[in-house]
Amino acid sequence: MPKNMKNCNPKPRNLFIKSLSISLFSFLILSSAYSCSSDSSSDDIEIDEDSGSDDGDTGSTGDTGDTEINITSILSKFDGTGLSYEISGDNVIFTSSDLPNHTSPYWPEDNDLHSDYTGVNPDWRQNPNEIAEQNIVFTIPLSPAEATDHESTPLGAMGIARNGIPFFNQYAGPDQPLTDEINSFDQWLGHPTGTSIYHYHIEPTYLTQEYGEDAFLGLLSDGFPVYGPVENGEEITNDDLDEYHGHVSATADFPNGIYHYHITSNDPYINGNGYFGTPGNTTF
Ligand SMILES: [Zn+2]
Ligand SMILES: [Zn+2]
Repeated sequence: MPKNMKNCNPKPRNLFIKSLSISLFSFLILSSAYSCSSDSSSDDIEIDEDSGSDDGDTGSTGDTGDTEINITSILSKFDGTGLSYEISGDNVIFTSSDLPNHTSPYWPEDNDLHSDYTGVNPDWRQNPNEIAEQNIVFTIPLSPAEATDHESTPLGAMGIARNGIPFFNQYAGPDQPLTDEINSFDQWLGHPTGTSIYHYHIEPTYLTQEYGEDAFLGLLSDGFPVYGPVENGEEITNDDLDEYHGHVSATADFPNGIYHYHITSNDPYINGNGYFGTPGNTTF
């Protein structure tokens, strides 16, 4: 499997990104020229400046293109309440307030996103916890690579969904399966801990409804991407994946191929027997 990754040549993608940046830049010049000739305003100029600085970011990440895999291109898909990220050296640093951008019975009653349970689990029972703002900082490598020692995932955050909510692993506690805990998952299949940390152990159905069952859903802390349960129109099962719950193939975001995890509908759901790569740090 890793041999496939080593065969990927990132250069064509870098050239593509560069030419895309150039054509985007040309387009901005042309469109700004056009808008100046039709109706010039200071708003137009501000928009051009913002776009220019975005181009600069893309250029600087291209400079790290010596490595075989780089996930910088996918960072723009992260979008959530109180979620931001910055690139620092070889890492991306996400800061998340862990506030889900969707309804839940776990929101305090006075929050606009508070709702009754609208899911389909007849055994649903709400746990006594509530969603509350956190300050979670994930430091994740931008150039993930296979580790020689595959670390176990921790209890607690093992990655970050594209809306800033942490992914937790397949255990409710040390060696405790999720069996009972599943009944406290809300209609989007998340729930909060006793310390109000809202998280997903299984498919975050708000995100797959929003972006598709085959979409990019987030990153584990080792920098490898997490995808939904469908690929090329076919449902992925645990049997399609290695012991870490991933495989190498092309994805819409990484057409040259990349190791990635899939969320499946059966235990262990997101990750199997540890990280494929080397995880960065997460602090609360
Ligand atoms: Zn949990
Ligand atoms: Zn796949």
